[in-house]
Amino acid sequence: MIYLDNHATTRCDPRVVQAMLPWLSEDYGNPSSVSHDAGHTAAEGVQRSAGAIASALNAPAEAVLFTSGATESNNLAIRGVCLHPRQKKRHFVTVASEHHAVLDVADDLEREGIRVTRVPVVANGNDSSGLVDLDRLAAAIEPDTALVSVMWANNEIGSIAPMKSIAQLCHSRGALLHSDATQAVGRIPVDIGDADVDLVSATAHKFYGPKGIGFLLAGNGNRRVRLKPQIVGGGQQHGLRSGTLNPAGIVAMATALTLCVDEMESETARIAQLRNKLFDLLCRGIEGIVLNGPPLTQSSRLAGNLNFQLDAIEGAAWMSATPELAFSSGSACSSADAAPSHVLTALGLSESAARCSVRFGIGRFNTDEEIEQAANRLIVAYTKLRQLS
Ligand code: PLP
Repeated sequence: MIYLDNHATTRCDPRVVQAMLPWLSEDYGNPSSVSHDAGHTAAEGVQRSAGAIASALNAPAEAVLFTSGATESNNLAIRGVCLHPRQKKRHFVTVASEHHAVLDVADDLEREGIRVTRVPVVANGNDSSGLVDLDRLAAAIEPDTALVSVMWANNEIGSIAPMKSIAQLCHSRGALLHSDATQAVGRIPVDIGDADVDLVSATAHKFYGPKGIGFLLAGNGNRRVRLKPQIVGGGQQHGLRSGTLNPAGIVAMATALTLCVDEMESETARIAQLRNKLFDLLCRGIEGIVLNGPPLTQSSRLAGNLNFQLDAIEGAAWMSATPELAFSSGSACSSADAAPSHVLTALGLSESAARCSVRFGIGRFNTDEEIEQAANRLIVAYTKLRQLS
């Protein structure tokens, strides 16, 4: 199998697995049981990892809350701020191209009496970046807006949002800003101090760590962030997220993020070159390919992301014809959903153009040979499908 679906998940880096193993065998204490050495050791591992994550993102270590992943982090951030008992504001703003882990929380909040505004993305033909329209975002924020949620990088078309400008816009209007940075963390520099975002969600399995562990950075020291806990019980993590901590997952996540940050510059260049090569080869072998989303440049799009439309062949048919390749049509994160991608339709694509679209995510473990083999197989499969249709 050639795995080209690194936006859905990534393979756990073997160095991360090595760092994780002792925490499953020798150092298996409960970090809350600090009355003995086993618990102490685990608590120290957790604390060191929180420090490493915070320093990789230039955030305060106290801000780190460990969760089961970005879905939970988004729920905790959005529900936590909007439904806090002392929250007087009753309005939430987000964007049409967010992941369902934000959009479905917004739907839920609406059912609980919070007003929600979903701002469209720019979709005017000249600009297909898929970024939120800043004028419309500014107009959507009211004195009653408690929180705005804008993703740092899009999981389907890889667009990178200008978070610093968005934060200034939110704060000048008195609202807090949350960002689902799931696809950004580990892939591009994420500097919380500089961007001044108040809450940030991420999940380890998108940056070569294990699944089922993530974090929310809650507060950057500049504004007060009050969260209503969404999981109650043993009172861990200052009562903000109860449940026994997962030291093996936490150490693995911190190791994975540190590796990403240390290797980011060279890795980004290599991955972008592989992504560009795949696109060039496919465009040479297949007529009528149209890129979806921003141009393939480093500042506007994630290095490994490729999303494009095929002429008259559905993405799902192309995938079925190449079972030895892993890529996706629409968002694999919501593959239970057969509807065309809401991100692509928000960009202005017709339903049929969205169905004829595919997403590739190139990652750390891909090689030049894999890209060449994948391109050949894709071109052969496409040609056969065209002959049949
Ligand atoms: N947000 C974005 C942008 C994603 O791409 C994903 C992918 O799955 C999630 C949230 C959900 O992450 P998890 O499944 O780890 O909770």
